[in-house]
Amino acid sequence: MLKVFCSPARYVQGRDATRELAQQMRRLGLTTRPSIIVGPRTRRETEPLWRDTFGTAGMAFDVIDFGGECSRPEIERCIAEARRTGAGCIVGVGGGKVLDTARAVADALDLPVVCCPTIASSDAPCSALSVVYTPDGVFAECLYYRRNPELVLVDTSLIARAPVRYLIAGMGDALATWFEADTVHRAHRTNVVGGASTQAALAIARLCYQTLRADAREALAAARQGAVTPALERIIEANILLSGLGFESGGLAVAHAVHNGLTAAPQTHQYLHGEKVAFGTLVQLVLEGRASEEIAEVMGFCADVGLPLTLSQLGITELSPDQARLIAERAVAPGESSHHEPFELTWVMVKDAILAADALGRDFLARRSQVAGQH
Ligand SMILES: [Zn+2]
Repeated sequence: MLKVFCSPARYVQGRDATRELAQQMRRLGLTTRPSIIVGPRTRRETEPLWRDTFGTAGMAFDVIDFGGECSRPEIERCIAEARRTGAGCIVGVGGGKVLDTARAVADALDLPVVCCPTIASSDAPCSALSVVYTPDGVFAECLYYRRNPELVLVDTSLIARAPVRYLIAGMGDALATWFEADTVHRAHRTNVVGGASTQAALAIARLCYQTLRADAREALAAARQGAVTPALERIIEANILLSGLGFESGGLAVAHAVHNGLTAAPQTHQYLHGEKVAFGTLVQLVLEGRASEEIAEVMGFCADVGLPLTLSQLGITELSPDQARLIAERAVAPGESSHHEPFELTWVMVKDAILAADALGRDFLARRSQVAGQH
């Protein structure tokens, strides 16, 4: 099997990076009439910055207001709009759904795409895929593209000002990266782009987990003040770049499949992707029979930063046998990344690991609050 590594052509990150958007695009030859896809709230915050940067560069641009869901009809509407204005490239500015839509539109029109995440809630911005939902928000399909974005530009000032829950969720998504990439590698399975993993992908995934453990606490303190610090910069890089390269070129395993299973439970709908992935990571560690010290380390991380360790922290206060089966069966559906584990996997094994991880999580939290009570 050939090793395959993919990445965006360029990654730019830093304080007030939006001010340099046009110059950075210019360096890559992206000079003809960008169409910017953006939600209304982000537009109010960033449009003055675009006027400056594109004005200085002497570039005209158009704005497409995003309707709120990355669905087929919304993608079609944005394609028509970009066609009508003669877009030379597509720029997505905002959260995951906006960027997913921007990538889909760019691919359909065979145009380069620039992703400007304004929150660090997942590792999707660098990738060559989109998650598409029905207009009422139910998962529909994944679309895979020929190319990764030309440019990913991350303005850490904007991300520092966003609600910290997004940053924490991004850490949950990034938490899974090392464990999934490691499993895929050891099981000789394929990464997201259908190749074996490179040393580079594994090293990046490992660094992602190390960065989370070293910098999460300090980064969160800064983000709560809206302050950009080196620790916050490193966590943002871990959430978006390290985790993005790590998952796509390293591969996915049970953690993300459990996430997909959990989306079948309506109680979890108000929880973010990364929050469900964090719990999925604990399920993966239990399922793989990892050492209890290793599981405790990951649980400690989750408890420290405020990621869920239990089903009730994901809105599931009571799990009926039927719902447990539904979640577990969804996680082992054909084509799911759960089949990247090095052993044959059944829904019963996943169900048992979910129940056991939940019990361990409750136990962990109870012991923590006991210790806190003694001081
Ligand atoms: Zn993810």
